[in-house]
Amino acid sequence: MKIICIGRNYLAHVKELDNALPSEPMFFMKPDTALLPPGQPFPYPEFSKEVHYETELVLRISKTAKQVAEKTASQYYDAIAVGIDFTARDLQSECKAKGHPWEKAKSFDYSAPVGVFKPITALNDPSDIRFGMKLNGKWVQQGSSVDMIFNFDLLVSYVSRYVTLNVGDYLFTGTPQGVGEVHPGDHLELFLEEESVLKFEVK
Ligand code: MG
Repeated sequence: MKIICIGRNYLAHVKELDNALPSEPMFFMKPDTALLPPGQPFPYPEFSKEVHYETELVLRISKTAKQVAEKTASQYYDAIAVGIDFTARDLQSECKAKGHPWEKAKSFDYSAPVGVFKPITALNDPSDIRFGMKLNGKWVQQGSSVDMIFNFDLLVSYVSRYVTLNVGDYLFTGTPQGVGEVHPGDHLELFLEEESVLKFEVK
């Protein structure tokens, strides 16, 4: 399986990193080795001094999607989770400055913890899905899918023009504002609506 991640999809986050407002979605990928096995701590990578959390809603692809139209895109995903798009911000800034790809900063081992999936049909309102993350017991990020610049259907349709999405692939849909650093010893807890869906430690 593969993991597709959308960048710059919440206005307040685009502003906090001083990025330009996107006119179309921007995506990059993480390999399956980026998944953090459930129950394991996140090992702080030795090559970075500034690892940031980005808390995001994650769609699970349920049907092969190749060049699908936006109006039928909702048939191609069936479940949602909350995950962290861990980012070595120091390496990413270096890559950006040099005009290099971001893989070093984004796709490293265990950079994609993902909580338990919930069927889309079990949600009260799929257009307003609230989610968030507590760092050491305190809220640091809280968002809702209602604030996304590009919605789920547009994202699935857009990505599928370039890359075929297979059953079981994950789509990270971007982070709201409030990204920040983690340090060894930190405890992260992810929430989907009111439910705690993943807890782990930084080692
Ligand atoms: Mg992200």
